[in-house]
Amino acid sequence: MATQSFISSFTPHHTFHHHHRRRRHQLLKSPTKLRAQVSLTTPPSLTSQTNPNKTGVIVVGAGLAGLAASIRLHSANIPFLLLEASDAVGGRVRTDIVDGFTLDRGFQIFVTGYPEAKKLLDYEALDLKKFYAGAKVYYGGRFHTVADPLRHLADAIQSLTNPIGTVVDKSLIALTRVRVLTQSDDQIFSAEETTTLDLLKRIGFSDSIVDRFFRPFFGGIFFDTDLETSSRLFDFIFKCLALGDNTIPANGISAIPEQLAAKLPANSIVLNSPVASIEKSESSTYVVKLKNGDVLRSEYGVIVAVEEPEAVKLLAGESNDFSNETKQLIPRSTVCLYFSAERSKVPVSDPALFINGSGHGIVNNMFFATNVAPSYGPPGKALLSVSLIGLYEDESDEDLRSKVIEEISSWFGPEMAGSWTYLKTYRIKFAQPNKRPPTDLEKNPKVGVGLYVCGDYRTNATFDGALVSGREAAEALLKDRSSVRAT
Ligand SMILES: Cc1cc2nc3c(=O)[nH]c(=O)nc-3n(C[C@H](O)[C@H](O)[C@H](O)COP(=O)(O)OP(=O)(O)OC[C@H]3O[C@@H](n4cnc5c(N)ncnc54)[C@H](O)[C@@H]3O)c2cc1C
Repeated sequence: MATQSFISSFTPHHTFHHHHRRRRHQLLKSPTKLRAQVSLTTPPSLTSQTNPNKTGVIVVGAGLAGLAASIRLHSANIPFLLLEASDAVGGRVRTDIVDGFTLDRGFQIFVTGYPEAKKLLDYEALDLKKFYAGAKVYYGGRFHTVADPLRHLADAIQSLTNPIGTVVDKSLIALTRVRVLTQSDDQIFSAEETTTLDLLKRIGFSDSIVDRFFRPFFGGIFFDTDLETSSRLFDFIFKCLALGDNTIPANGISAIPEQLAAKLPANSIVLNSPVASIEKSESSTYVVKLKNGDVLRSEYGVIVAVEEPEAVKLLAGESNDFSNETKQLIPRSTVCLYFSAERSKVPVSDPALFINGSGHGIVNNMFFATNVAPSYGPPGKALLSVSLIGLYEDESDEDLRSKVIEEISSWFGPEMAGSWTYLKTYRIKFAQPNKRPPTDLEKNPKVGVGLYVCGDYRTNATFDGALVSGREAAEALLKDRSSVRAT
């Protein structure tokens, strides 16, 4: 029977309440389907007492957006189920432990200045490890520091005369900081927009600082070295960078979604459960079908929190509003390669981000992860993370690996080539949605009666945007529910 088999596919959520590393191993080991009784795995508060395959709200996708939506529903005491296709929460924010190394699935930085994240996360428990505030730019055969003057004044003064930009450029950075800090996020998201490149030119930045600093630095953040991304996103990120630190959690970037998941009731998250379709029933409520054929109904609505291309597939024919406003531009992609070595072989001890300002080569940015967070490697071992922009589909992993080591050896000296061991490559096709103008970063999450969407593609394509969009989707549902109850 559909109901019985749906419930039997639940993966108990209690695994999220264990210690991080142990938890990851448990999740990987856990079978795709756990044979369990309805009453044991699904508390009555989550599904209807009379119909166990009916719940209040169904949230599809346990990335940051789906988790934030669920947290908001939970705070309003609305029963819900969060269905996730893969074997863990986090979506794009995942970490693997390989040979004792902490490998984030692609280079990800958590900016503590993100406003929504500040409200939702316990920063202290994340044990955030800070990067140097600025970057080391490889240009002309050596490194030049671009420092944040508010945090590293002496470095910033010294860097005034380096070839990365002119003295005027460095004062324009200060002015840009004041401009973004005096605007609210709403003002930033609704401001007149152009591309980031055009904005930088209009502000008056020189070609040198654009090519040597902004292209690799913001190109690394947007996965877009052409800097086509909306100026609204540039302003938002610039503001968050001014307000906070660049960090990674000591236990890996997945500590962020794991902390959010731990706020939800046991068994409200159902892993290994890809949704195949979402359809309106005769009674105007939505019916969610899983790929394994199981069916689940929602009383108050469905929140679709999957990546944009997946949402387009799931909602095809269900919402004209959604189809009309979805642009589906080519997404932004990245490749991340990891290498290890003895800690004694690391050429620098800086917890810095190294960026390629030379205009040559394939490496965009890299950092010695264990210089920022020693816990990213086993004792005595160092971890190097290297990022490329784009997917490099025509090049094999082996080719990329040798090109990267050769390039980095030219930055740090030939001993790099011999002493670093290759660990793993991540090719991430859908790293971020394409946010080239025109953008609408404040879309209405409601796309039908009882149907809501969220995800980074609806807002500002960051951790924070995903969190905001999840909360707003839940709030739109709660608002509709309270107006139904009032009538
Ligand atoms: C390599 C990389 C680096 C990044 N760096 C940064 C950074 O430094 N700072 C920053 O702010 N942002 C960064 N981002 C962007 C950030 O990770 C995303 O904006 C954010 O995590 C998106 O969250 P989301 O919930 O919208 O989507 P996702 O994380 O994609 O979550 C969607 C979830 O839906 C699930 N799903 C899909 N289809 C189905 C289905 N049919 N049924 C059930 N579940 C389904 C997926 O498995 C997934 O778990 C980076 C992204 C990548 C990939």
